[in-house]
Amino acid sequence: MTFPELATLHAQGASQQPTWNDRDAVDTTYARLRAVPPLVFAGECDDLKAKLAAVTRGEAFLLQGGDCAETLAGATADNVRAKLRVLLQMAVVLTYAASVPVVKLGRIAGQYAKPRSSDLETRDGVTLPAYRGDAVNGYEFTPESREHRPERLLDVYNTSAATLNLVRAFVTGGYADLRQVHDWNTDFVRSSPVGKRYERLAREIQRALTFMEAIGADPDEFHRVDFHSSHEALILEYEHALTRIDSRTDKPYDVSGHFLWIGERTRRLDGAHVEMLSHIQNPIGVKLGPTTSADDAIALAQKLNPENEPGRLTFITRMGAKRIREALPELVEKVTAAGIQVAWVCDPMHGNTFEASSGYKTRRFEDVMDEVQGFFDVHRALGTWPGGLHVELTGDNVTECVGGGEDLLEADLANSYESVCDPRLNRVQSLELAFLVAEMLSEVHVPTED
Ligand code: PEP
Ligand code: MN
Repeated sequence: MTFPELATLHAQGASQQPTWNDRDAVDTTYARLRAVPPLVFAGECDDLKAKLAAVTRGEAFLLQGGDCAETLAGATADNVRAKLRVLLQMAVVLTYAASVPVVKLGRIAGQYAKPRSSDLETRDGVTLPAYRGDAVNGYEFTPESREHRPERLLDVYNTSAATLNLVRAFVTGGYADLRQVHDWNTDFVRSSPVGKRYERLAREIQRALTFMEAIGADPDEFHRVDFHSSHEALILEYEHALTRIDSRTDKPYDVSGHFLWIGERTRRLDGAHVEMLSHIQNPIGVKLGPTTSADDAIALAQKLNPENEPGRLTFITRMGAKRIREALPELVEKVTAAGIQVAWVCDPMHGNTFEASSGYKTRRFEDVMDEVQGFFDVHRALGTWPGGLHVELTGDNVTECVGGGEDLLEADLANSYESVCDPRLNRVQSLELAFLVAEMLSEVHVPTED
């Protein structure tokens, strides 16, 4: 199978690309990235695809989450552990409360490049290039930092490798062992209602595990979890250099991550991103905003998944709480009627961003919940499977989204606003979301008894 040349893709028109002034540096970086070892193995991408096929069939639920934008400086052991921990806690809540297998996918180990609505940012009368993620430039508001530098892609590769190495160690080395359900909660506000609620659930799980061990189940079965990496495939040089021909199948895989998605701003049918991802074998996603027509979605599916293979394609809808109930039904109905195999996943974050009066970009927990509820309602009405949740979150106690059980106010945002891009749910809000979604999911999912 052939993979298009980088120049051919650029000629096709790629939006949201860096403006690199130093061509030699781009060429050198690209050549070095072509020579580095893969971050993931193609067989792992196939495993994830098989799990997403189960999501497509309505037999599993996808939990995809992490930062809007990872930063190189933020790739510390504490941060990685905290992110993994909140995802594991959410997954346990969803699995246990709804009796449905949960596919765990991090926005992690590669989520370093951001599409922006404006190329420039002005502060106090000074205008500089907008921050486009650590893969492209620095967050600091100086001309040097904001310059687009291709060498950063090598830092992204190295930091992604280190992050993924740690994630693999955690998920196979015992940290993610189900018998640790309590320990994931130890430093948590057990006094908070959601902390207590989690504690009760953890006790039940512990009892169930003890029972299973007593009747002879192999405790090693609980020892490790499957966890995969994902990011938006945005910078052509990076994704192209890391696409390799798999020795087993002779087919191209993008080995920068297990799952890649195309953003709302780069999903043009005849654009370079759709073309590039149409040639790789990984499971992929496409973000669909409220202006997506059913014809657009069907054409994207036909281009990206011509064989209609379940698990290959996920549509991540991000409509906004106000629009989901009117925009989603026709899309799902027509795509389904066209016989298209796709997993439907809800991103309740990107259609619900607004600027607080203090200037912080934020989201209301209530809007996030409302969009998820709308997503479940629409799928229930159509008899289709609400396949998953895609969220921006962190394991830390940040103050970036307002509302939730702790009732964070706009005035609280300044206390601990750490995101360099979009506002994330903090640990308490993430866990609350998991409990609420688990309730919705348990209503749709009636476990079969045999
Ligand atoms: C994102 O996921 O951070 C993002 C930019 O999303 P979208 O493409 O849906 O706007
Ligand atoms: Mn974002």
